[in-house]
Amino acid sequence: MKDVSPTEAAPKIQGKNATKTLEKTTPLTEVVISLYEAQEKIYPRSTSGFFTKWRWVMIWLTQLFFYGVPWINWGHRQALLFDLETKRFYIFNLVLYPQDLIYLTAILVISALSLFLFTAIAGRLWCGYTCPQTVYTEIFLWIERKIEGDRAARMKLDTAAMTTKKLVKKSCKHFAWIAFALWTGFTFVGYFTPIRALANELIHLNISPWETFWVCFYGFATYGNAGFLREQVCKYMCPYARFQSAMFDDDTLVVTYDEARGEPRGGRSRKLETSKTLGSCIDCSLCVQVCPTGIDIRKGLQYECIGCGACADVCDTVMDKMGYARGLIKYSTQNTMTNKWSHKQMMQRILRPRVIIYTSILAFLVSALLASLWLRTPFRVDVIRDRGVMARLADGGMLENVYRLQIMNGTESIQHYQLNATGIKGLLIEVDGTEINQDVIVKPAESRWLSLRLEIPDGSVEPGSYPVEFEIKSLQSKETVTEKSIFLVPR
Ligand code: SF4
Ligand code: SF4
Repeated sequence: MKDVSPTEAAPKIQGKNATKTLEKTTPLTEVVISLYEAQEKIYPRSTSGFFTKWRWVMIWLTQLFFYGVPWINWGHRQALLFDLETKRFYIFNLVLYPQDLIYLTAILVISALSLFLFTAIAGRLWCGYTCPQTVYTEIFLWIERKIEGDRAARMKLDTAAMTTKKLVKKSCKHFAWIAFALWTGFTFVGYFTPIRALANELIHLNISPWETFWVCFYGFATYGNAGFLREQVCKYMCPYARFQSAMFDDDTLVVTYDEARGEPRGGRSRKLETSKTLGSCIDCSLCVQVCPTGIDIRKGLQYECIGCGACADVCDTVMDKMGYARGLIKYSTQNTMTNKWSHKQMMQRILRPRVIIYTSILAFLVSALLASLWLRTPFRVDVIRDRGVMARLADGGMLENVYRLQIMNGTESIQHYQLNATGIKGLLIEVDGTEINQDVIVKPAESRWLSLRLEIPDGSVEPGSYPVEFEIKSLQSKETVTEKSIFLVPR
């Protein structure tokens, strides 16, 4: 196929994931399709208004939580800590072991279902207000604006030749971004290793290679995603953007442009009556300039829209200046726009079957999780039969089987336990060679492995496999946990 020059170019086709450029070389058939086109940088203009305020409220809340919680102590330790080294998860007064993974799984399922419910009611509010990608992009944009100025100044700076002033501005911006990103990486690692110890290591330049790697890795991810990739993460990388449409219906709140009221759009003098020739849209393009994903909401709902409401805020200011009613761009539903419903009618549609089903499942799962946590015994036990030793004759004509037993103390105080075994007449239990006549002591939030022997007089029962039960009783809580195993009597 022969190469073609750009001057011969023909129309562009906008696809979802790529821009295809059709270039005709002859009037007949030769066509070059480019599946890649460099992204044009988006320079979102700053805005203010009701939704912008709420976005900043959410940014403050989420960031106060993220950066603040690791520094909160609960007793003598960090309140929220996923300690990978000791394999303990501390969530305030709850101590979870890897065996409690079911609780973490349940929390993840509940979070996912909450997102479904939230999306069915209010669309992509999660994306626009609380998603880390949006939140960090907004923070990085704020830093960028403070150093380089608003949209027009940034565009001008980027196209200008490199001067000392430009170099200083760019260096300051990247320095601030990197410092913020590293702080984010440090905080993230502080959820997995005690943050005070980590800070101490950092101050004394004694931080371990793995901790250094994860701080830099997470910091680099923040720097890259919020500083450079920005809306491309939402458009091309985020899986939620792909399947969220399955959770939308005609009663889901989305950011909408009131086409009936806005069209035909066009510039006009402030005094011109809209009703005569033009709709309310003055075609100022401010709604496009403030959009962090660079779309034009006037073309209808698009999957790139993250529901941030910036376009609604800026359009309201334009409407105010023109003396028109607010709400040319607003949160509304498809049904409301089509059927001209009132606000009350729109809100009444929130309680629809899909929402009721999601809410019921969510309520059930949350109740089950809370009940399970409430009824959870404060210790766990695992018994493993020693498969290397089938059965053997011990001193005194006794036949013994060997086991390993682990007691995990899920409380934050020293616990005393009593062990017992039942299932065969005359069954004796020994712990590490000593007949069990004293308590087993396990330190706070620790686990202890014990080597156990069950013994019966040789010949007292027929050869075979006998079920036995270990009973472990906490002397503090008086709760008892039983674990099943088998006792082998060889021929
Ligand atoms: S901000 Fe409002 S008036 Fe301006 S172009 Fe957008 S929809 Fe039209
Ligand atoms: S179209 Fe409006 S609501 Fe959607 S992302 Fe752009 S500015 Fe935000």
